Amino acid sequence: MNSLEPQQNTEPIRQLRWEKPRRISRVYPLLTTILLLANAVFVYAWQVTQVRYISEADTYAKRQESLEAQVKSLSASKVENEKRLALQEQQITDQNTDLTKLKSEVETTTKNLAAREKALRETEAQIAEQKKQLSASASEIDALRNRPPLFNFKNTSGRSEVASQQEAIKTLITKVYPEIESFYGKPYLLSSVTIDFVNELKIPNSIGEITIENSAQGIQMKISLTKFSTSDYLQVNTLLHEILHAWRGKAVLRSSALEEGSVVAATDALMFELAKKGILPRYNERYIQISNEERISEFNTRYEVHADTLKFYGNPSISEIYQLVGSAWYELHEEDPTFFFDFNEQYYALIKQGKAVDVATVRSIITSLIPTVNGKPTSQYLASEPAFNPR
Ligand SMILES: [Zn+2]
Repeated sequence: MNSLEPQQNTEPIRQLRWEKPRRISRVYPLLTTILLLANAVFVYAWQVTQVRYISEADTYAKRQESLEAQVKSLSASKVENEKRLALQEQQITDQNTDLTKLKSEVETTTKNLAAREKALRETEAQIAEQKKQLSASASEIDALRNRPPLFNFKNTSGRSEVASQQEAIKTLITKVYPEIESFYGKPYLLSSVTIDFVNELKIPNSIGEITIENSAQGIQMKISLTKFSTSDYLQVNTLLHEILHAWRGKAVLRSSALEEGSVVAATDALMFELAKKGILPRYNERYIQISNEERISEFNTRYEVHADTLKFYGNPSISEIYQLVGSAWYELHEEDPTFFFDFNEQYYALIKQGKAVDVATVRSIITSLIPTVNGKPTSQYLASEPAFNPR
């Protein structure tokens, strides 16, 4: 059968347009059921929506609660952190302050250190310069000390017999020079000694005089004599006495009492040695004529030993004073035959250092060289002798 062919309905075509049903349709219960079903679906959907809404509201409240708790907790930790931050900031500030202080301290210390280093370098340079100068002047002094002094002769008196007396002195000095060196040490800064024959001396009754001049040419010594003979004890003693003064030259002891005492004693001791060696005749004489006992019991109490040069030489009892001081120094030589040599070496060493050697220093040099004098401690001996305590 062909589908294009018009269908042949046996039933009458139901009218689709609304019209009052003419009889109770069999479709109605079906429609009612559908309506009930739709209603049930609607109620269910509405209920579900309600549940969902409630559960969503519940979740929201919980979230809110949780968020609030989080906010609270975060707020608390924010406060805590702020506190910690403030504390750390304070610590940083404190540490910065400390650091600034330390920096300033370091700066100050560095500055001080630099200043001290500078001062140290300056002092070192100064010391080096002083050492240089000291060694230069020491070698100069040594060179001068090792140079033999030049003995010159003059005849101010105009007397003709002086020529042979000058020859006698030259012969004696040539023989005696090395002996003086080994007994008294090398001369101190001696440049020239002039031995002048004069008709009259400044000090009446004296046999010889010495004048020391410190000129641009160096130390000039002038020994004045009226006459000379090797056989005359007092004349030889006087010449050697003046030469021993000249030996110390610029370094003569600052108190005349000390210088004269030591030279008087040394001349006697030297002459004794020279006579023993046959360089000088045996005179059977001494310059010092008083005994130690006489000095202690009489001279030391009777005579005043002045510290002042003019008062010392101007003393009307100057001859006795020479005996007193000479005798006191001679005791030191008796204790130790090398005393004068050792004394001069120590004394010159101090002078070379530019030290002003006073009477107390002379006493301390003596004490360092000789422990006792006549069984007495040397300091005690020196304290009791006017020769070592000029006033
Ligand atoms: Zn003298």
